[in-house]
Amino acid sequence: MSRERVVVVGAGMAAVRFAQELADRPGAPEVVVLGDERHAPYNRILLSAVLEGTHDPGALAMPVPAGVDLRLDARVVEVHRAQREVELADRSRLGYDRLVLATGSIPTLPPIRGLVKVDGRLDDRVHAFRSLDDCRRLAAAVAATTGPVPASAVVVGGGLLGLQVARALAVRGLRTEVVEGGEHLLRSQVGPAAGAILARDLARLGTTSYTGARAVRLTDDGLRLDNGVTLETDLVVLTAGGRPSTALARRAGLEVRRGVVVDHRLRTSDPLVHAIGDCAETEDADGRRRTTGFVPPAWEQAGVLAALLAGEDATYDGSRVVARLRATGLDVAVLGEPERAEGEVVEVSNPVTGSHRRLVVRDGRIVAATLVGDLARVGLITQHFDRGTVLGLTEPSDLLMVDRPTRPARLPDDAEVCACAGVSAGRVRGCSSLAEVRDTTRATTGCGGCAETVRTLLATRPLQGVPS
Ligand SMILES: Cc1cc2nc3c(=O)[nH]c(=O)nc-3n(C[C@H](O)[C@H](O)[C@H](O)COP(=O)(O)OP(=O)(O)OC[C@H]3O[C@@H](n4cnc5c(N)ncnc54)[C@H](O)[C@@H]3O)c2cc1C
Repeated sequence: MSRERVVVVGAGMAAVRFAQELADRPGAPEVVVLGDERHAPYNRILLSAVLEGTHDPGALAMPVPAGVDLRLDARVVEVHRAQREVELADRSRLGYDRLVLATGSIPTLPPIRGLVKVDGRLDDRVHAFRSLDDCRRLAAAVAATTGPVPASAVVVGGGLLGLQVARALAVRGLRTEVVEGGEHLLRSQVGPAAGAILARDLARLGTTSYTGARAVRLTDDGLRLDNGVTLETDLVVLTAGGRPSTALARRAGLEVRRGVVVDHRLRTSDPLVHAIGDCAETEDADGRRRTTGFVPPAWEQAGVLAALLAGEDATYDGSRVVARLRATGLDVAVLGEPERAEGEVVEVSNPVTGSHRRLVVRDGRIVAATLVGDLARVGLITQHFDRGTVLGLTEPSDLLMVDRPTRPARLPDDAEVCACAGVSAGRVRGCSSLAEVRDTTRATTGCGGCAETVRTLLATRPLQGVPS
């Protein structure tokens, strides 16, 4: 009997993780990964570090396990469910026993007149920032603008991605401005007070943000906002908007709402077709349906699906949302949904030092948190959040008031240090080098937010055979 064949559409962060998880299991099926980009899979969340110049594109590579049939520049254009085949852009077909859609999300063009020229192409100043090709094109445009006067850039969108790109461009020496249609920065993650502190932090770093203002038209003079201001600019980077890439699933007749609808076993409306990552719309344990757009849920879904396809019992009931901003000079961590979560709010805001810390506490447990400007306590707070630790009456405020960082050396072995890969302090301590941590646990290979903690844990790990 021939091995079952699992075909994965998309060779992004969810797909690679799924292939790795499946390959780690005995009796793994044949896995074919079809990606439409020409590059080998890479860590998308480090693209702003490449733009900034701190990472070489080669450092972003995500290893695909031996035995996985990875095909690049292979765009799937149709799914023929009745025949259990996918059709590629070159019209060739490939049969599957199980199909996994991991098509990610696509940037959407905001309604700004003048972005697209009469011939249908984007104005040369306009850039998206989703792929390595986008990143290279933008980096080349930045390099081409160097001259005696600093070039300028406007980033449309004041969300996590927008702020990362804005900081990267500013670090590269561009005069950078951010336009955000909402009333404050990072409005999907944080409240107005934290947003205002971020805007001040950005201004201190040389970037002006325009909130509550929409870009409406790109002209030869610059980008015009609906408040009458025109921002002169050499580059416009679009980071606002983006939606799950669902066209393929929709054409295949699968149920699609905002994302490709899946159940707790990550099955679409066709039980032989699954969806994971940014393209999937999952259901939480409380019945709430959601699409995410972050690596940790994508990787958790990849792990659950690999377990299910290997015959194990597993369900996906939602993920904790932990978002970290990767931007030089700006520190932000958001746990859960601090603006939606119900509970008592403990908050400390210091606009002078640019820090804002907010905990939402219900029944003594931290159910959400926002930390801006000072992440000294993020490890401990995340640990309490993850474990649902019941805190004493004064502990929440103590956590916010005490500035002394928690030393990673003191983290208990079962404290989670890498939210992307779900790796504990004990597993890191069991490794002898950063390379071993990367290869065996995959910690530090996601958002990178744990890198410093991992390095400290390695530096302070007890020597083999020597009691600590
Ligand atoms: C610049 C940037 C920074 C980010 N920073 C963070 C961060 O700090 N933290 C965080 O948690 N998340 C971050 N994200 C989001 C994170 O990258 C995504 O959540 C994650 O990549 C989702 O994985 P995925 O596999 O679902 O989608 P992707 O990684 O986007 O992969 C989807 C792949 O499928 C391909 N594809 C689509 N359609 C087809 C088709 N028909 N045929 C073949 N291939 C197809 C796409 O080209 C793409 O390569 C960031 C995203 C970007 C763009």
